[in-house]
Amino acid sequence: MIKHHPTFELLQSFVNGDLPASLSAGIAIHADMCQECQRQISQLTDQIAEANFEFEANFLDRFIIDEEKDLDEIATIDFDDMIAGITASDEIEVLKEKEDKFISFNDTNYKLPDALHNMVLGKPAQIGKLSRSRIQLDEDEIHSSLLHIKPGGGVPEHTHKGFELTLLLDGSFEDEQGTYVKGDFIMLNSEHQHHPVSEHGCLCYTVANDALHFTKGINKLLNPIGSFIY
Ligand SMILES: [Zn+2]
Repeated sequence: MIKHHPTFELLQSFVNGDLPASLSAGIAIHADMCQECQRQISQLTDQIAEANFEFEANFLDRFIIDEEKDLDEIATIDFDDMIAGITASDEIEVLKEKEDKFISFNDTNYKLPDALHNMVLGKPAQIGKLSRSRIQLDEDEIHSSLLHIKPGGGVPEHTHKGFELTLLLDGSFEDEQGTYVKGDFIMLNSEHQHHPVSEHGCLCYTVANDALHFTKGINKLLNPIGSFIY
């Protein structure tokens, strides 16, 4: 069962459209697997829609009771145009037939989450039991990848200067805090230090930003795996 979810603040930023594409995709992927977060997202979306509607209604009210305004001017509001404008908004999704996409790691095919369908994936690279495919998002210091760990593989003890999101797409892994399963959304910051190991193997979606360049440079020399994962 999923035990780790995005915080309420993250869900709010997601609904407001304030998140970088990489984190936004992480929330969308998690919500696809988590009914509880799906419910919260639709509630937050409704609240925003309501707030926008009230704002527009107030605006029209003010316009109409403004005695300075000529009635003719009010008559020039073209409601057909207004409706056409609203329905043409790209916020309304066009339903189309979805086609499954797959990615292969170590001869196993994994179904790609819908949120990653339109993203360009780099060629998988491998060090030991770790393979990763970079997601080409051009978000400067924010790097996103699909990370596959073969059974018995793991990531040496590490910490991050920024944040590290690990979202389990398949399989499970363990660290000092316990076991994580498919759908778990694990957001860590520089206060956390961990040593994940996957007894049975797993596939994760990861997003990390590591802002301190000199540390990253030293890490690169001392720990090629660290830079491989970031
Ligand atoms: Zn959730």
